Amino acid sequence: MSAYRKDTVCVQGGYTPKNGEPRQIPIIQSTTFKYETSEAMGKLFDLEASGYFYSRLQNPTCDMVAAKICELEGGTAGMLTSSGQAASFFALFNICSCGDHIVSSSSIYGGTFNLIAVTMARMGITATFVSPDCTDEELEAAFRPETKAVFGETIANPALTVLDIERFAAAAHRHGVPLIVDNTFATPVGCRPIEWGADIVTHSTTKYMDGHGSAVGGAIVDSGNFDWMAHADKFPGLTTPDESYHGITYAEKFGQGGAFITKCTAQLMRDFGCTQSPQSAYYLNLGLESLHVRMARHCENGQAIAEFLASHPKVEAVHYCGLPGDPYHALAEKYLPNGSCGVVSFEIKGGRPAAEVFMSKLRLAAIETHVADARTCCLNPATSTHRQMTEEQLQAAGVPAGLVRMSCGLENKADLIEDIASALAAI
Ligand SMILES: *Cc1c(COP(=O)(O)O)cnc(C)c1O
Repeated sequence: MSAYRKDTVCVQGGYTPKNGEPRQIPIIQSTTFKYETSEAMGKLFDLEASGYFYSRLQNPTCDMVAAKICELEGGTAGMLTSSGQAASFFALFNICSCGDHIVSSSSIYGGTFNLIAVTMARMGITATFVSPDCTDEELEAAFRPETKAVFGETIANPALTVLDIERFAAAAHRHGVPLIVDNTFATPVGCRPIEWGADIVTHSTTKYMDGHGSAVGGAIVDSGNFDWMAHADKFPGLTTPDESYHGITYAEKFGQGGAFITKCTAQLMRDFGCTQSPQSAYYLNLGLESLHVRMARHCENGQAIAEFLASHPKVEAVHYCGLPGDPYHALAEKYLPNGSCGVVSFEIKGGRPAAEVFMSKLRLAAIETHVADARTCCLNPATSTHRQMTEEQLQAAGVPAGLVRMSCGLENKADLIEDIASALAAI
């Protein structure tokens, strides 16, 4: 792990230019790479040597940015993907096959819920969803012999529940499977799930990491802590020879710290091609350079707006773990001592119609299917990101129909509060 503090890694991690090299990370806008001999290239195809040959699998610009994110999370290996969805899918599909099973928090991003509950079910991978607040007995009961992973979000989008990472990690490890944590909303500036026992961390870099609404992307980081060989029968993809690579066994050849990401790149990137473009990785890196500075302001604005809303007579409930009365406040104090995020969700009295009036009257906060960028925006999840869900599923995910999710940007908080106050007055 890096000797530098997170702020320094945000600015300088992942790329250290040598004498005369570009100060900013170079965009290697090339699909392919030249070799002197076929033999040299053959070694790359056999995973006998490391290097680049085709940007669908790996690209130097993407790798520099992945290395920065890996360092920020305190992992041993990392990779970028085309989107957060691709990161979640790859992280799970890298260790789950037809007939396998996932234990997932029910309080997760709507897209991830669809991925697991619908699309992965079509691949024969089933899931049991548990509330992040379930009892130890309920969590225990969700496991089956064919369970291969536990999944949750540090701060869930949009319900803003906080995952008790240590508790979920302990349960996963009792059953010999890794905990995968989507750390998109917290970012490694707020929380490093690996320090609390998570084995794999995923990101939608589209959100705070990019931070400017510029480029869709994702990332996966491996802690290197999960001992695949100790549970070899559960994870044959990592612990038995891969015939598509001349019989390489990933966990043996690349060790505990490298096996997961190497397999994910060599097999899933090769076959699915959900790669990030070097241009997008460059934008992502620009965002990462100020992530630590921006997160502090996002949290400050989120806190101020949550406090304002909590005291407003037209607001039924506010969900923000930074509020002392929030059910997740104690978990937030443990896992997110420096602030949670800029996203606040709240229910306006009068349900969906009142929420619609409120949103139409906002001037600074725009209606967008997005969160976590420099400009404040808001959304009614039930009519957008979560519209595939039934009423019961919405309730289970902690997303009532009248909920407004507001992503506080980097503007002056007094201006934002004035905007919200006048929109509430119009109801
Ligand atoms: C947005 C989001 C995703 C999906 O990421 P995309 O980059 O939009 O594919 C996954 N998880 C969380 C928590 C998100 O907020």
